[in-house]
Amino acid sequence: MKKPLIGILTNVLTVEEGIFAGSERLYIPRDYVNSIVRAGGIPLLLPIVADTVCGQIEVVDALILAGGQDVHPRHYGQESSAALGAVCQERDLYEMEAIKYAVTRKKPILGVCRGLQVLNVAFGGSLYQDIPSHFPENAVKHSQKVKKEEGTHRVEIAEGSQLWKMVGKQMLMTNSFHHQAIKELAPGFAINARSEDGLIEGIEYMEAPLIVGVQWHPEMMASQNDDMQQLFTAFVQMVRAQ
Ligand code: MN
Repeated sequence: MKKPLIGILTNVLTVEEGIFAGSERLYIPRDYVNSIVRAGGIPLLLPIVADTVCGQIEVVDALILAGGQDVHPRHYGQESSAALGAVCQERDLYEMEAIKYAVTRKKPILGVCRGLQVLNVAFGGSLYQDIPSHFPENAVKHSQKVKKEEGTHRVEIAEGSQLWKMVGKQMLMTNSFHHQAIKELAPGFAINARSEDGLIEGIEYMEAPLIVGVQWHPEMMASQNDDMQQLFTAFVQMVRAQ
């Protein structure tokens, strides 16, 4: 059977030093690519070109929304707070177009970290712009300082959820590299994972197609952690079964 084509939406990086200073590169961390390959899919990197977004999505069977910048608060009706991080509106607009078109074409989506946040915003939800500013006494550290492969806080998975079916576990030890979190959940979505402080760590769309987002970075752990690899393996299997 043909391997599914998994489109990974890229990020943009401006070169800061040397003779190429000022030139832009479209890229994706290799961990996403490796996780999809191990899962039996064919990864395809999709460039940020808003005019071609529909054509790009026609080519692939599913999408991965990767991590990166903060989503601009204008997309969820807030002013930029002092603790807002770097934003990239070109990427925001491209990804939200991609999400809307993918839904009309019934293409599954897996959102990672920023990917979960942009999913929530694209469907009408909102974010906390900075967890420490909103919850200064928060008991769980969401911006870990140890290696990317290391799990640092627990996440409880909702029994019976799509995520639960994918990983087959009720508890996961996840890494955590986010200073933002979901505030108001988008209509049509359910929460499938939370950390012990009650923050939302995973969401999923309650209607077809398969749309799942996680707040941690499973791709960074997947080469050493079967549960994290299983998330990608199950995703690719579900795409293939569609
Ligand atoms: Mn976290």
